[in-house]
Amino acid sequence: IVGEICGEIVAPNAEDVDHEGPTVANGRVTYASKTKENLDATTKAGLMGMTMPRKYGGLNFPAVPYMIAADMVSRADAGFENLWGLQDCVETIYEFADEDQKSRYIPRVCQGETMSMDLTEPDAGSDLQAVMLKATYNEKDGYWYLNGVKRFITNGDSDLHLVLARSEEGTRDGRGLSMFIYDKRNGGVTVRRIENKMGIKGSPTCELVFKNAKAELCGDRKLGLIKYVMALMNGARLGIAAQSVGISQAAYNEALAYAKERRQFGKAIIEFPAVAEILSLMKAKLDASRALLYETTRFVDIYKAFDDIAKERKLTPEERTEQKTFSKLADSFTPLSKGMSSEFANQNAYDCIQVHGGSGFMKDYTCERLYRDAR
Ligand SMILES: Cc1cc2nc3c(=O)[nH]c(=O)nc-3n(C[C@H](O)[C@H](O)[C@H](O)COP(=O)(O)OP(=O)(O)OC[C@H]3O[C@@H](n4cnc5c(N)ncnc54)[C@H](O)[C@@H]3O)c2cc1C
Repeated sequence: IVGEICGEIVAPNAEDVDHEGPTVANGRVTYASKTKENLDATTKAGLMGMTMPRKYGGLNFPAVPYMIAADMVSRADAGFENLWGLQDCVETIYEFADEDQKSRYIPRVCQGETMSMDLTEPDAGSDLQAVMLKATYNEKDGYWYLNGVKRFITNGDSDLHLVLARSEEGTRDGRGLSMFIYDKRNGGVTVRRIENKMGIKGSPTCELVFKNAKAELCGDRKLGLIKYVMALMNGARLGIAAQSVGISQAAYNEALAYAKERRQFGKAIIEFPAVAEILSLMKAKLDASRALLYETTRFVDIYKAFDDIAKERKLTPEERTEQKTFSKLADSFTPLSKGMSSEFANQNAYDCIQVHGGSGFMKDYTCERLYRDAR
């Protein structure tokens, strides 16, 4: 089903989405028309909340087949993968929110509502400890209220936001930050602008203004950065790895097809050893990054399966040891997978242009979009 939707809808839409892009008016984002078509198709096919348990309306998939799907979506359109892949954020609700929040929010994501993770601010990029968006508790109604600015937020006009904010007055480091769930139905967040990016243009990257935005605490206070963002980022890193593998595959496919078709000196250019070598190196990088992605995701699946079992009963000492081992493996392989796959995607997109010769520099060919998207 994923292959069919990607091949018949998402891939043919990619060029139009790249040209049209999203727009912003009166504080709200409108997706490119064909982005809406992509979202409708994936939602109708039940491809939202894929890894969530059936009781919440998900497909109860392990992460490996979900990453295989993400790889395919990205091969069709890496910008759309950026949006569709934000369903990962629901994992944070599943792992750390209370039962009431899970039952209210997870089914909405499984039914197609979108998410965003609102971490970055103008003065807090790599250094998230510097986040200043303020969360104030109102004892009268038991809710938190958020005030401040976030920037570079992918899909910032989403239905459900995970927001990193400073809940502990007077603090300046990561220990004063908590994680919040903001529901767009409550209002209070507007999109001030969307960035004009070089690639993945279909996914809106937003600057957000929070004005007394009503929110709920997710998990415990003060663990926002040190625990929840760390978990959230690991999911996001695997998503970027899958996105990169998809771009590598698309670049390889384009280069291979062109090399078979283009003739010079009386033969197809693939018959020249120099061109064949470029292609075989592209394939090696593609296969290596995919193998690393799937193996890393398998580590994640194993330790998360133990996490789930531990919710029902006490783990045996052997099970606990295994859970720890795979959790450590996942933690060390995840950044490795993201780092290598994204470098290889850039190299493969570059080589794809090289195989196309002068044509690769022209907007007529897909490879220039892949090159921008890979970056
Ligand atoms: C397309 C796109 C989508 C994004 N989507 C989201 C999103 O959905 N949610 C969200 O919260 N954020 C998002 N971001 C923001 C992204 O997470 C930040 O851009 C990133 O964290 C880096 O922060 P910065 O841009 O402020 O760069 P800076 O932190 O200012 O870094 C500038 C340079 O300095 C280097 N640097 C910084 N600190 C160190 C250090 N200690 N040691 C060595 N080098 C260092 C960096 O590697 C970089 O090369 C998105 C960004 C982009 C481009």
